[in-house]
Amino acid sequence: MNNENDFSKLSIPREMLKTLSSMGYDKMTPIQSQSLPFVLDGKDVLAQAKTGSGKTAAFGIGILSKLDVKKFKIQSLVICPTRELSEQVAAELRNIAKFQHNIKVLTLCGGVAFGPQLGSLRHGAHIVVGTPGRLLGHLNKGSLDLQSVEILVLDEADRMLDMGFFEDIQKIISYMPTKRQTLLFSATFPDEIKDLAQSVQTDSVSIETITNEEANNIVEYFYKTPKREKFSTLTKILGEHNPLNVIIFCNTKIQTDEIAKELRQRDIDALAINGDLEQYERVDVLVQFVNKSCRILVATDVAARGLDIKELDMVINYDLPNSFEIYTHRTGRTARAGKEGVAITLCDEYEADKLDEYIDKKYIFREKDDLKEKRNFSMQPENKTLVIEGGKKNKIRAGDILGALTKEAGIKSVYIGKIDIFDRQSYVAIQKDYIAKAYTQLKIGKIKGKNFSVWVLE
Ligand code: AMP
Repeated sequence: MNNENDFSKLSIPREMLKTLSSMGYDKMTPIQSQSLPFVLDGKDVLAQAKTGSGKTAAFGIGILSKLDVKKFKIQSLVICPTRELSEQVAAELRNIAKFQHNIKVLTLCGGVAFGPQLGSLRHGAHIVVGTPGRLLGHLNKGSLDLQSVEILVLDEADRMLDMGFFEDIQKIISYMPTKRQTLLFSATFPDEIKDLAQSVQTDSVSIETITNEEANNIVEYFYKTPKREKFSTLTKILGEHNPLNVIIFCNTKIQTDEIAKELRQRDIDALAINGDLEQYERVDVLVQFVNKSCRILVATDVAARGLDIKELDMVINYDLPNSFEIYTHRTGRTARAGKEGVAITLCDEYEADKLDEYIDKKYIFREKDDLKEKRNFSMQPENKTLVIEGGKKNKIRAGDILGALTKEAGIKSVYIGKIDIFDRQSYVAIQKDYIAKAYTQLKIGKIKGKNFSVWVLE
C-alpha cells in the first residue's frame, strides 16, 4: 500500500523518526502531510488547522529539524494566545526534541513571576514559546533577544486577534530579523488573518484542510476508459459538462505539460502548473485561473496545494491518485462553501478493480461510450490578463488601475475583472474584447503620474 503519509518521506533527521514512532506517530495527519514539505523547504506557510489536527507537530518537526543545537541562541519563537496552549506546545516540542540531547525549550507567559524567567533567559534557550504580553514585557526590559530568530510561528492566530493582540504581535516582530520563515496557524481564515499574513509573511503557501462536511456536496463519477483512450475521454467529458473552471490532476509534471498542450491544440484553453515553474510563472498561471483568464488548470498535487479557489465547478482526476487522502483532497477543492461540485475520475479496468482498496465510499461507474463527441467544440475564457510592472511598492492601488481604465480608456467597469496587486506587479482581468483598448491606454497613459510597462499574458 502507499506510504504517502509516512514521516520517512520527509527530509528530517533519522533519529527524529525513531522518536516520532516511539510517540506513536505512525502516519502524518493531513495538516502534517500538507504543510511539512513546505515548512521543511523554508517556505512561509499559512495553514488552516484546528486543535487536535496535529498542528503542533506540523510546525514542531519543522523547527526541530532545522535547529542547530550548538548555536545557543533563540532560533525559533512560537507565539500562542494563552499560557495553557504555550505549555502544551512546549511539552510537545520537548517530546519531539528527545531525538537530540540538550535542546532547550523555554516558556515565557504571563500569570507567573518575572524573576525566574529572567534567570532562565540568562541561561539561554533554543526555542521560546510564549504569550504576546509577556514576550513584549521582556523585549521592553531588554531581557529577550530575538535577533537570531529564524522561524516564527503564530499559533491559533485567529484567537490572538480576537484577544486584541494584533499590535503586540507586530511590535514583537519588529525585534526580529526580516529575513525569517513565518508559519501562521489559524482555525479560521477571516479577512483579518489574511491581512496579518500579508503583513508578516512573504509569498506564503496557504493550506486548507478539508473537512467531511465540506466534501458532502460533491457529485462523484468514475469513467472506465482504456489508457490509450484517456485523452479523448477527457475531451468528451469537457465537451459534455462544459465546466466554467476545472482543475485536471495528473500524477506527473511531464503529463501536466503534455495535456495542457494537447488541449490547447484542440482549441480548449488550458495552462499547466507544476513544480518546475519559476515562482513568477506560477503566479502568472494562478492569477489567470482565478481571474477567469483561463478555464482549465492541469496540475500536479504539489503544485495545486494551497490554491485557494472559492468557486470551482469541477475536478478531474486524469490519473488515479495514490491514496484516499489525496483523492479527498483533490475532490474537496470543488463544492466549497456549500456549493455543488463535480468530481470525475478516469480509471482503466485494472484500476477500477482496485478502487475498493482505497476509495472509502460507494462509486458510480459511467461508460465512456455514453459520452458524445461534440463537434467544433471550443472552450475559451471570458477574460485576458494585463500585467502592469508596478505594484504596492509603487503605491499602486486597485482604484488607480480601475480609474485609468474607466476614465482614461472609457472601458465600462463591468468589463473589468479581478485586480491583483503584488509588490512589484499588478494584474488586471479584462473582458477579451476590450483587452486591446486597455493595453493601448495603459501603455501610453499614466497611473499615479507614472508610466509603467504593460503586457498581456498569452
Ligand atoms: P495538536 O493539534 O497539535 O494539538 O495535536 C493533537 C493531538 O494529536 C496531540 O495529542 C498529539 O500528540 C497528537 N498527534 C499529533 N500528530 C500525530 C500523528 N502524526 N499521529 C498520531 N498522533 C498525533
